[in-house]
Amino acid sequence: MSRNGITNQPAISRPMTRSLTRSLPIAGLILLALVSGSLPVRGQAQTLERQQVSDHVWMFSGRGGNVGAVVTDEGVIVIDTQYSDSAAGIIEQVRAITDQPIRYIINTHVHGDHVGGNAILQAEADIIAHRKTFERMSASGADVAALPRIVFDGEMTFRLGGNEIHLLQGGRAHTDTDVAVWLPGDNVLITGDLLFNRMTPYVDTGRGAHTAGWISFIDTLVRLGNGETKVVPGHGELGNLNDLSAMGRYLQAVRDIVQSAHAAGKSKEDILALTLSDLGDEFAEWEGNRIGMALAAAYAELIGG
Ligand SMILES: [Zn+2]
Repeated sequence: MSRNGITNQPAISRPMTRSLTRSLPIAGLILLALVSGSLPVRGQAQTLERQQVSDHVWMFSGRGGNVGAVVTDEGVIVIDTQYSDSAAGIIEQVRAITDQPIRYIINTHVHGDHVGGNAILQAEADIIAHRKTFERMSASGADVAALPRIVFDGEMTFRLGGNEIHLLQGGRAHTDTDVAVWLPGDNVLITGDLLFNRMTPYVDTGRGAHTAGWISFIDTLVRLGNGETKVVPGHGELGNLNDLSAMGRYLQAVRDIVQSAHAAGKSKEDILALTLSDLGDEFAEWEGNRIGMALAAAYAELIGG
């Protein structure tokens, strides 16, 4: 979720972060683990909450997008980097769970509240992202230290500590840069902003968002798991595949109401002024007030202009 997209990252705090985290003696790590427990750990300017999702997966949340961590015997994979001022807190949270090094970092998509800590975290490990995340960050003048070093199209699978990690792309959805992370062994799906859990989603048509593509990607993802699957959303609380399906129903409901209102002769202005309550009861309690973005996207796809 970001209005501003990419932020250029000053490199000032990187050496400090690196030396701090790498010079902590083992006793210090143990002490850190003991005192932090399930309490929030304060980063440089940002407090993150930590929640265990499954045997190997953790979720860190605070201001900006949720962060995932996959902890294995051969290292840690961090999913998303939030903001530059949360990067140190992400590293602290990982250090509070394990003494394993961070081996890879994944960006779920291009938005600044998911890639903002890239320059700092890439001092720890290489960042993997959709080719278009790299292209969009590069085109917007992002610091080279923040640019993902490994990019891919389609799918990527890798293994770490006996865990399979699948990275999936589905074309245009929340943006045209989205990657979902599927961990079959843990039955956990990390969606990035393909899921705003019980919130109206940000629909970034300026960066390739497409409601029909988003629905299609969700349909693919919900078939991966089952009733026990845990879903780490980009925003909101830990959820399940029903929550992800609800995101798809919301987008479909927006498309349906745009289509029916247009068929009934309503003007574009009237259609774009529809509200959440016009969609019925299911979404009435959702947070955020972003239905206008979805209406505009659906209108452009279905009617044009
Ligand atoms: Zn986003």
